Amino acid sequence: MTSDSIGLYLHIPFCTAKCGYCDFNSYAGHEHMIPSYADTLTKDAALWREAVGGRSVDTVFFGGGTPSLNPVVEMEKILTGLRSTFSIAPDAEIALEANPGSISEEYLRGLRDIGFNRLSMGVQSFDDEELVTLDRIHTAADARDAYAAARAAGFDNVNLDLIYGLSEQPLEAWQRNLETALALGPEHLSLYALTVEDGTPLARDVERGRVKAPDPDVQADHYEWTQDRLARAGYEHYEISNWARPGYRCKHNLVYWQNREYLGLGAGAHSFLNGVRFSTVLLPNRYAELVDESVAAQRNGGGAMSHVIGAETVTPELSMADTLILGLRLIDGVDVREFARRHGRDVDDVYGAVLGEFVGYALLERTPTHLRLTRRGRLLSNELFQRLLPEPVA
Ligand code: SF4
Repeated sequence: MTSDSIGLYLHIPFCTAKCGYCDFNSYAGHEHMIPSYADTLTKDAALWREAVGGRSVDTVFFGGGTPSLNPVVEMEKILTGLRSTFSIAPDAEIALEANPGSISEEYLRGLRDIGFNRLSMGVQSFDDEELVTLDRIHTAADARDAYAAARAAGFDNVNLDLIYGLSEQPLEAWQRNLETALALGPEHLSLYALTVEDGTPLARDVERGRVKAPDPDVQADHYEWTQDRLARAGYEHYEISNWARPGYRCKHNLVYWQNREYLGLGAGAHSFLNGVRFSTVLLPNRYAELVDESVAAQRNGGGAMSHVIGAETVTPELSMADTLILGLRLIDGVDVREFARRHGRDVDDVYGAVLGEFVGYALLERTPTHLRLTRRGRLLSNELFQRLLPEPVA
């Protein structure tokens, strides 16, 4: 990793079915678009060749959606395109999110052969009833089989995603889930509290009283128990929702938390490149049309990127807030010397009053070099981060 290296994110917005809690940019019933979408991603990548310049790409992450719906041949096409466009580091982390309902050992071997070295499996639960309430297409047995297939295919860096604090989920049910995951021995665990996102079927069910809203106090109990259990199991808690065996932290997500730059390709992907944050249009069809327009514009010597929306140059104030908010998600917290080097301001000159208040409430603590959330602060992190955002310009 060098200071000006970047991460690459590729968004694959297709899913077999839409889960009731999901507010990601993903669409069911559009799998027929997968081959042409791979071509579009390659074209989109080429549009950024100059803007990325010779910067090294240290991480490549395929997220979704369900990237594992992409056949190996399409994945290979995309990776070949990326390799011919950017300087992908020889030891780059190349990762894929996989749905346990859509992978086989043969498929995973194919991915290993073309260079994938990390697999993140969206297990969510090892309880079939819970999986049904989450609208997942896989069963607990599928998840176990998929994990065994990943190992047999040679993946030695596997993450499992699990969700805790489901509506009316007792602590014992969550404990069983996590113990099942631990018995499998993954290198990494990403554990998220169920959240009710506006506009999702889950939000409507909660509104109509068909489903109870998850209880934040119960979720806090689940989280507290989890932190202790995973510490005993030898996992490093390195980010609010992420734990890893030593040496297996997710390099790609660290790019975000360290407020470093990345290029996002695909419908609805977000980027932070050359000091500008931007995203692309959400709908896959529209994205493909507009990428073609951007290609034509570039061919004619113009720079218009028709598929890009919401470009915003990051101001020094926003940049400082990003470094602090994203960095506080890390358990080690923010290195205040590094903050001063990067932004030319002492963190206390900018945020002294609010930071002092949080330290007073025992939500934040200072070490000689770092500022970090306390255990209590991790439970209230969202409220705290709100306070660190710059005032919107009127
Ligand atoms: S598989 Fe993932 S991205 Fe697709 S609908 Fe379910 S939660 Fe959303």
